[in-house]
Amino acid sequence: NQPLKDVDPDVAKALDDERLRQEHTLEMIASENFAPVAVMEAQGSVATNKYAEGYPGRRYYGGCEHVDVVEDLARERLKALYGARYVNVQPHSGAQANTAVFFALLQPGDTILGLDLAHGGHLTHGMRINYSGKMFQVVPYHVNDEGLVDMDEVARLAREHKPKMIIAGWSAYPRHLDFARFREIADEVGAYLMVDMAHFAGLVAAGLHPNPVPHAHVTTSTTHKTLRGPRGGVILTNDPELSKKVNSAVFPGMQGGPLEHVIAAKAVAFKLAGEPEFAEQQKRTLEGAHILAERLTRPGMAELGVHVLSGGTDVHLVLVDLRDSALDGRQAEDLLHRIGITVNRNAVPNDPRPPMVTSGLRIGTPALATRGFGAEEFTEVADIIGEALDPALDEAGIERLSARVKALTEKFPLYPALA
Ligand code: PLP
Repeated sequence: NQPLKDVDPDVAKALDDERLRQEHTLEMIASENFAPVAVMEAQGSVATNKYAEGYPGRRYYGGCEHVDVVEDLARERLKALYGARYVNVQPHSGAQANTAVFFALLQPGDTILGLDLAHGGHLTHGMRINYSGKMFQVVPYHVNDEGLVDMDEVARLAREHKPKMIIAGWSAYPRHLDFARFREIADEVGAYLMVDMAHFAGLVAAGLHPNPVPHAHVTTSTTHKTLRGPRGGVILTNDPELSKKVNSAVFPGMQGGPLEHVIAAKAVAFKLAGEPEFAEQQKRTLEGAHILAERLTRPGMAELGVHVLSGGTDVHLVLVDLRDSALDGRQAEDLLHRIGITVNRNAVPNDPRPPMVTSGLRIGTPALATRGFGAEEFTEVADIIGEALDPALDEAGIERLSARVKALTEKFPLYPALA
């Protein structure tokens, strides 16, 4: 039982290099965040050793009395955060949570309606070569010319195709969804409504985004994005019958032993998500995204070929449209990487460039808000990005922008306790 650096210096070095990368760059991938040290401590605990198939009080293994406490804490805290009557905290990831709901409520060959991947949907919402696209008849819905989900199209497609499930949720969409309208449409055609709140779960917990749980038959989420927990998934519902189906789809339907060390980390994250400091961070997350959208739409940006999809944002991310720019998504991503800002390229609706290149960027603010950024720093980072997206930027300009990024990273040390 020697420390990692002695047992395996190669892995220890790679992990330390990763810590330094996180420390010395500005993380703006919209689906990422920095988990608190207490969350990582719980995840690195002895609970990793324990088999606990089943649910608290009904396990198939002995010695579960302490992990039962852990899982019950996670469940009760999650229920309280979202006002849900029933939850399952065992899915290993967001994709597993969605799969479990599909297995619980659908049969192979059933029809599902989901937001098209190229319009902001997730792989598990019916992408062609994802299991969701292979197992089900997928009818995609889209955003309209203003970049907003076209609810009239959703209603029309629902009436025409009579899906068994409608999925509301996204990986790249900058606005609120109308959950009540989705439910109305689902009820009209006799479909289940599943909301996947993976991206905006932290905003909901902080009361800064409409809560889908009262509207959806079932809500799924990841726990590691805006919510700041360990990598993982959860499922929530207010319906006792659906809850039973979901529980048996997770175990024994799909998974074996739950990851109790991850569930311990989820419990810690849910506790923290109920505290004022978390709400304050989520406010800065939103403020940062507003500033970013505002600075990237200021006079002069359109002349550089930079536009913001839907003209702004209500959430933690901004979608930059580079269809008019000499820079494509890949070039823009690489350039920002060179100056120390990590983002991901992203297809925009009706993207003329291929999926590996794209004409867009998805830029998120959760990780920087966690790091401590406020209005002043978000304005500076937005202006750095704006200047970086000028196709005329030269090497000297890149150096100047890199120095400004470095100054921001030094102002907010990350994980000082781990250095
Ligand atoms: N659902 C949505 C909306 C997502 O954006 C993601 C991840 O990006 C997932 C599900 C899948 O989560 P995971 O990567 O944990 O499987």
